[in-house]
Amino acid sequence: MAPVIWWVRRDLRLADNQALAAAFAASGPVAPVFILDPALLNADDVSAKRLAFFFGGLRALDAALRERGSRLIVRRGDPLTELTRVTAELGAAGIYAEEDPWPYARQREARIAGQLPLHLTGGLTVHPPQAVLKANGEPYTVFTPFSRAWKALPLPVTSDLLDAPAHLPAPPDIAGLEIPGAPELPDDALFPPGETEAARRLRAFTRGEAAPIFRYGDARNRMDLDGTSQLSPYLRFGMLSARRAVVAARQAAEAAPDAESRKGAEVWLKELIWREFYMAILYHYPNVLDEAFRPALRDIPWSDDEAAYAAWCAGRTGYPVVDAAMRQLVRTGWMHNRARMIVASFLVKDLLIDWRWGERFFMQHLVDGDPAANNGGWQWIAGVGTDAAPYFRIFNPTLQGARFDPEGDYVRRWVPELARVAMGDIHAPWRMSPEEQQAAGCVIGRDYPAPIVDHAWARERTLAAYRRAE
Ligand code: FAD
Repeated sequence: MAPVIWWVRRDLRLADNQALAAAFAASGPVAPVFILDPALLNADDVSAKRLAFFFGGLRALDAALRERGSRLIVRRGDPLTELTRVTAELGAAGIYAEEDPWPYARQREARIAGQLPLHLTGGLTVHPPQAVLKANGEPYTVFTPFSRAWKALPLPVTSDLLDAPAHLPAPPDIAGLEIPGAPELPDDALFPPGETEAARRLRAFTRGEAAPIFRYGDARNRMDLDGTSQLSPYLRFGMLSARRAVVAARQAAEAAPDAESRKGAEVWLKELIWREFYMAILYHYPNVLDEAFRPALRDIPWSDDEAAYAAWCAGRTGYPVVDAAMRQLVRTGWMHNRARMIVASFLVKDLLIDWRWGERFFMQHLVDGDPAANNGGWQWIAGVGTDAAPYFRIFNPTLQGARFDPEGDYVRRWVPELARVAMGDIHAPWRMSPEEQQAAGCVIGRDYPAPIVDHAWARERTLAAYRRAE
């Protein structure tokens, strides 16, 4: 029997993997192949932490394959050239891969499908973007009707989830490379890579009477609490299937002991649908990677204040919650969703800096950096996207901090200069008197920056700029 190739991409799992299952069902032995694509590895929005997590995921996948008698064949080069070579070396009858809505991935898929027997499957999302359309066949551009249509389609249940194959015969002995060792994951990495860890996190978040998912409705906005699943990097690289996450959310909703807990599970499901919404937007409107979705807001006169941008990147804006979040991002590669919204709003609406600068910086640092979710999040905050927040909704960083980090614990964790500042001043330390600054060991302008911009003034400037552009 001629072997078939399972072309591994961002589906680093054996459980509930539709591409692997399709390859397995195609009769011949399955050869798992991964291609290191220099165009991606050398891109200017690559993040060392994301790459380390990804390579760790490849190693975990290879180990799981070896336990089952198989192994990962790794090559480096242009995917079409390499797949053509591997197909010839193996005498492979077909290539099976998970479809990806990202424009670069789609171009690759189209080139390869033109030359080789490529079979694409679903799996990155529960419903493929082409399946969630209005009655007239047009894509949804507003979340709520998209979500309604998404839920009206058949939803996965436990029996749909595919088991990891117990055994996979060894692929023919062809040459392969080592999985790169660098960049290395730090010892205290927040996200140990691999599907075992993803499954453990999902269980811990959704199972049992005191499952955190039941408190998610309230806790998810608190930056000082670990109230969210921290599964985004695992979903990003398919160490967890979207179907499994959705099944877990729905089971939790059914098992919920009371209405509040049920709401928690439903809100979490809604976040998973947001993920699918932005994938669908990227699929149908690939131009959003370059420009605002709303044509009327493509010509905002952005400020190109490099110094202000550098202060934002370094977490030295003088606004504690913004600085805490940016330092968390740079140090760990992750940031709380509420914090993402606050810093994004600050960059765009307080500094009037092009949202694309922030989008790129996030991609250069986030372990979960995903073109669809990241672009969607930035356009939403900038008020220029699909289901965007109206542009006149401008976050006040001081009030946001006080509301979602009420004791200031999040700020103190990431901005040690403010460790001894009293709770009442922690989100606006410039309001301290000189004596209070001395007592707190934090003199503004010396130990911690004064605010780089006045929020009230910046708000008016932004409103005027948007009004002019609209
Ligand atoms: P949970 O709250 O536990 O949510 C569960 C899952 O749902 C997440 O893991 C994620 O896969 C998905 N999800 C949750 N919220 C969103 C959302 N608003 N949009 C799309 N998917 C969502 N998420 C990314 O995965 N990658 C990104 O690059 C990314 N960039 C963002 C940029 C901005 C400016 C903003 C405002 C949000 C961004 N998000 C991104 C969405 C969100 O912040 C993260 O998914 C979330 O913080 C991850 O933490 P969690 O796994 O604990 O999420």
